Amino acid sequence: MKCALVTGGSRGIGRAICQKMAGLGYYVLINYKSNRAEAEKTLALIAGTGELLQFDVANKTQIQNVLGNWIENNQNNPIEILVNNAGIRDDSLMAWMDEEQWEKVLKTNLDSFFYVTRLVLNDMMAQKYGRIINVVSLSGLKGLAGQTNYSAAKAGVIGATKALAQEVARQGITVNALAPGFIKTDMTEGLDEKELKALIPAKRFGLPEEVAAAAAFFASPEASYITGQVLSVNGGLYT
Ligand code: NAP
Repeated sequence: MKCALVTGGSRGIGRAICQKMAGLGYYVLINYKSNRAEAEKTLALIAGTGELLQFDVANKTQIQNVLGNWIENNQNNPIEILVNNAGIRDDSLMAWMDEEQWEKVLKTNLDSFFYVTRLVLNDMMAQKYGRIINVVSLSGLKGLAGQTNYSAAKAGVIGATKALAQEVARQGITVNALAPGFIKTDMTEGLDEKELKALIPAKRFGLPEEVAAAAAFFASPEASYITGQVLSVNGGLYT
């Protein structure tokens, strides 16, 4: 059984990536934080070819307990693909940003990369095969006012992507990042789409499926010589 773990697979971009991974023949571990009903919908959409794995990616003890135990109990089913997708934003100008906003966003978007990936990496190294895909953001490339916390976290993951790619390239593991622009999900629900889409050359928000298509490319065996890269999926909205 070939397994793919998608963090934040209950909704939005993560759900579309789960569907793609199932389409590629993977048994999908659908991580979510609290929205069980939506996670079950994702599982139904992939016709039950996977299972739900509830843990908070911002909580290293939960990661160790839930994901660590799953790995321990499934020695014959190594995780070949890891998509670090779970993320949140909590915007505010820095002058008004409180410590909790900073810490929560850094823990969920950046620390999670370290604690989740570290657990999965051992098996990938033993198998001499793996695909790690980190969902970052235009905000981490360009920096966006009102998002010092989120831009810092995503830029941190971009740096880690490039560093880890060099550490594990010899072992047949690639590490790449996807940087979406504005994608239609719950995360962008409150934004002024009419005003923002005027700035995007494609004149529209992207769809989760358009990010998932790029994830499927990075996940494919054919992408074996591409590592340490950041691929923008942003309708031409360059920095
Ligand atoms: P979304 O619709 O808000 O969905 C977020 C997903 O992450 C949900 O499945 C949620 O689980 C999960 N999640 C959040 N916090 C978590 C935690 N602490 N532990 C485990 N799971 C957690 O977001 P999205 O738009 O699909 O975003 C997915 C990724 O793309 C994020 O990393 C985001 O930063 C990035 N991104 C999005 C956009 C965009 O325009 N949408 C642009 C650039 C980058 P629950 O359902 O249980 O809450």
